Amino acid sequence: MLLTIFRAFVFVHFKNTQTAIKKRNNTMVRCPNCGAHSVIRTSWTAINPGRRFYCCSRTCGIINWYDPPMCERAVQIIPGLLRSMNQLQERCNQLQASVDEEAVKVQRLKWILGFSWFLFVAYLMN
Ligand SMILES: [Zn+2]
Repeated sequence: MLLTIFRAFVFVHFKNTQTAIKKRNNTMVRCPNCGAHSVIRTSWTAINPGRRFYCCSRTCGIINWYDPPMCERAVQIIPGLLRSMNQLQERCNQLQASVDEEAVKVQRLKWILGFSWFLFVAYLMN
């Protein structure tokens, strides 16, 4: 449920962002210090969660923002949704680990059951 809301929120936000970017002249940004091509990265700070920025492909750092500033509501909501999503992912990983452990136990029990049937049949044959 939370993940669905988060995805819908991010989809709407980035759809609006993409529209704003298409309105801009989307030219390749070069680093003003070294002239290298920029790469687009995503900020995950509390102030700019999910906001993309141009970054030098070498080591100069941040050049400029790619996305427009986020609304206050998005800045308030996204970190909480990310925390919830991370907690759910961690819980999912724990459950997957326990399912894997149970699958090993089931396999072991199947082998014991088969072997006991073999012994039972061997006992009946004698
Ligand atoms: Zn640079």
